Amino acid sequence: MTEKLNLFIGGSSVESNTKNWIEVLNPATQEVLCEAPCATDEEIERAIASAKEAFFSWRETPPPERSRVMMKYQDLLKIHQDEIAKILSKENGKTFEDAKGDLWRGIEVVEQAANITPLLMGETVENVAREIDSYSYTQSLGVCLGITPFNFPAMIPLWMFPMAIACGNTFILKPSEQDPMTSNKLAELFTEAGAPPNLLQVIHGGKDQVDQLIRHPDIRAISFVGSVPVGQYIYKTGTEHLKRVQSFAGAKNHMVVMPDANKNKTIDSLVGASVGAAGQRCMAISVAVFVGSSNEWIEDLKKEMAMVKPGPWDSEESGFGPVISTHAKEKIIGLIEKGKSEATCLIDGSKCQVEGFPDGNWIGTTLFSGVKTESEIYKTEIFGPVLLCIEVDTLEEAIELINANPYGNGTSIFTASGRSARKFRHEIEVGQVGINVPIPVPLPFFSFTGWKQSFYGDLHAYGKQAVRFYTETKTVTERWFEEDEESTKNLTINLE
Ligand code: NAD
Repeated sequence: MTEKLNLFIGGSSVESNTKNWIEVLNPATQEVLCEAPCATDEEIERAIASAKEAFFSWRETPPPERSRVMMKYQDLLKIHQDEIAKILSKENGKTFEDAKGDLWRGIEVVEQAANITPLLMGETVENVAREIDSYSYTQSLGVCLGITPFNFPAMIPLWMFPMAIACGNTFILKPSEQDPMTSNKLAELFTEAGAPPNLLQVIHGGKDQVDQLIRHPDIRAISFVGSVPVGQYIYKTGTEHLKRVQSFAGAKNHMVVMPDANKNKTIDSLVGASVGAAGQRCMAISVAVFVGSSNEWIEDLKKEMAMVKPGPWDSEESGFGPVISTHAKEKIIGLIEKGKSEATCLIDGSKCQVEGFPDGNWIGTTLFSGVKTESEIYKTEIFGPVLLCIEVDTLEEAIELINANPYGNGTSIFTASGRSARKFRHEIEVGQVGINVPIPVPLPFFSFTGWKQSFYGDLHAYGKQAVRFYTETKTVTERWFEEDEESTKNLTINLE
């Protein structure tokens, strides 16, 4: 019988009473790995009530004590790294090495959550007026919600709940229904790390469950990562219900190639950043902008790209895995077909087969040159192992082209010129910039700072911004009187 995935409610792993179950498939074989429940209304109510009750004692827990839970947690995640990566690879399709990387980038955030206390420090100013002092505290919010996408089943949940909980909140996690098993393992280890019961609840399901959660009066803040239409919907609905929302959405990321760049490093970086994880990264490079004579490298890029092949997660030969679903595969193939009428297709991966895996969602590396910004393949986030090449004459043109794009998640420049790099860094309207670094995802002492249509909200994930997102600031203004001090009425707003 197919395994049924449990929910985490009230500190225990429980079987859902729902009649609606979603099959979780291995994207390399279509084997049913388990069935995930679409949690019932009552189960969602129970999870939120339980998280709310847990909040009142957890917010009183001193931050150093909260940190100790996170210290133990990051330790357990490291001990169980291979086991988690295996679950993740099977349900998502990523290669084992890439799955370990997915988890590792999440562990780095848990390490930061384990050092939360200095980040919670407020500010003080003495004598803001005569003998009056002001200072501020950060205080926790309440029950926070996280809704996560399929493409980083470990890293993105770990962007959210460790920081929210270290800040003194409790958390409801609603992972992607396409690869939800990793989240259950993360939750199981969190309990094993000594987290008091109820801090983290895991609710499975899709749109209906999300709709109930984002409207619930006891949810104070919503963190969302996923596609643009859903990201906009979550932001609009969440804020309409007067919640704090941070919503990370889709992307189209460009790499600018200058003629003075290190050729081999540039080509290798382009290949890795475009087709790694089958191009299913929100920071994947999907457009290469060749400036001037650097376009002569496109032939070499084609040779290097053609050598990278998809395959099953547990083969060392596999450069990347299948795409997540047959639906995603159809969409990508449709875009590749469209691209053939819009640009020159140098490598066509749409008919890719992998021996021994006839049913996998395989797409091979695909390369287009002569791409125009009006084309469908340029305007749409393909989210597959597809790289588009555009040629321009100058760095100024490259910057103008990128700034005109509606997305602003990540970008990079490969060059040997400090002057070109400085100009690019300063003028580019994108939130995360790499200089000879193809995928510039910031480490957790910074924040993940997508711009434009790649992000809706004000405060970003992890780093200091996450602490501000998951806390309230309380500012105190204080004065102490002499016993026999004279008193007059102050009828103004001024502090006297
Ligand atoms: P998705 O938007 O389909 O799903 C994300 C989450 O929203 C899932 O938990 C899903 O159950 C839920 N959901 C789906 N449809 C919904 C609806 N109509 N109403 C309410 N909830 C709904 O995204 P995905 O396909 O899982 O992930 C890929 C997308 O995520 C890509 O666009 C990628 O660029 C983006 N992404 C962005 C970032 C970032 O930091 N900007 C990071 C990772 C992924």
